[in-house]
Amino acid sequence: MRIGTPKEIFENEARVAMTPDSARQLQKLGYECVIEAGAGAKARFSDEDYKAAGVEVVKTAAALYKTADIVAKVRPPEEIELKRLRKGQTLISFFYPGQNTELLEAANKKGAHVIAMDMVPRISRAQKMDALSSMANIAGYRAVMEAGNNFGRFFTGQVTAAGKVPPAKVLVVGAGVAGLAAIGAATSLGAQVYAFDVRPEVAEQIESMGAEFVFLEFEEDAKDGAETGGYAAPSSPEFREAQLAKFRELAPEMDIVITTALIPGRDAPKLWTADMVALQKAGSVVVDLAAERGGNCDLTVPDEKIVSENGVTIVGYTDFPSRMAAQSSTLYSTNIRHMMTDLTPEKDGVVNHNMEDDVIRGATASFEGDITFPPPPPKVK
Ligand code: NAD
Repeated sequence: MRIGTPKEIFENEARVAMTPDSARQLQKLGYECVIEAGAGAKARFSDEDYKAAGVEVVKTAAALYKTADIVAKVRPPEEIELKRLRKGQTLISFFYPGQNTELLEAANKKGAHVIAMDMVPRISRAQKMDALSSMANIAGYRAVMEAGNNFGRFFTGQVTAAGKVPPAKVLVVGAGVAGLAAIGAATSLGAQVYAFDVRPEVAEQIESMGAEFVFLEFEEDAKDGAETGGYAAPSSPEFREAQLAKFRELAPEMDIVITTALIPGRDAPKLWTADMVALQKAGSVVVDLAAERGGNCDLTVPDEKIVSENGVTIVGYTDFPSRMAAQSSTLYSTNIRHMMTDLTPEKDGVVNHNMEDDVIRGATASFEGDITFPPPPPKVK
């Protein structure tokens, strides 16, 4: 069978779903690989690199869709891409079927099998295919780099002949995959890092990475991950008030605030309010990784960087992984390659779409004419 990767058409998307390296691995599984000319250019993979890896380069997306049995891409398909899908073709991409119901219906109508990389169950066996975590890890790291670019000072404390420099103070709100990556990057640059999460079980992870867990004096049975599948649940109004009061106390001290708080299926909770920004020092930076879901900061403008009246820079970019396109393409294409490995148990270049397999079932949103989203919960943890 042929697996093909088109150029991403979403504006500013620089990632690509197949790299020369991942193509070599896909060929070992028995597949022929094909890309659209220029598909890897923004991630610095040239057509020549692909050709050297045994990949066929075709001139147009139309030609690619015509002959590929499997189309692997990054973003959910746009209208023109939907039109090109055909019966029996397998599409593998981020899809967000919960938010994109019409898109899913349209892909289903075309008879395509849809594997949504955002729906890979978060069980141990599937970690190698967990593209959400791969991208969140990059976003967390990149958030610290963006903060550094907009912060006019060192992260690390220094004693120099010209005077003593204190370390930057960084607050990370939300310590999931992205938050922990941000903590790791900021501590390794020498900052003094504080972190908060509503899931008390992450305190240990935060501390093991050299950051300080921000404790909240609050009498409430915290909901642990067991009740919510490891994700956060919305907080009570009282808890939220206590959290905001704590943040107001911290705001004047913090040089950099990186917010990553999300609750599945909801808009991002507003946790860094306009009055907190007003309390921050001029030159401080807020990087809001939740911008795409409405933002954790009141003042965030998605896809933009703004400066508040009191001189605080607020970064609301929504394309952090794409800003490190070579790295994110490498990790994402590896996630896809692992998905293909599970789809090809005989290594014979033929897809075996086994709906009895928890991971394949979980990620499949459309199959053989049926919409198969939402999936049943995985049988194995
Ligand atoms: P996420 O992107 O859904 O949310 C980011 C963080 O925001 C979470 O840690 C959440 O607790 C936190 N948050 C929500 N509301 C908040 C608030 N009001 N204040 C502060 N923080 C708030 O999270 P994620 O990175 O997708 O991780 C979610 C869970 O999934 C974690 O338990 C993680 O360990 C788990 N996980 C498991 C696997 C696996 O087993 N393969 C892979 C990745 C993540």
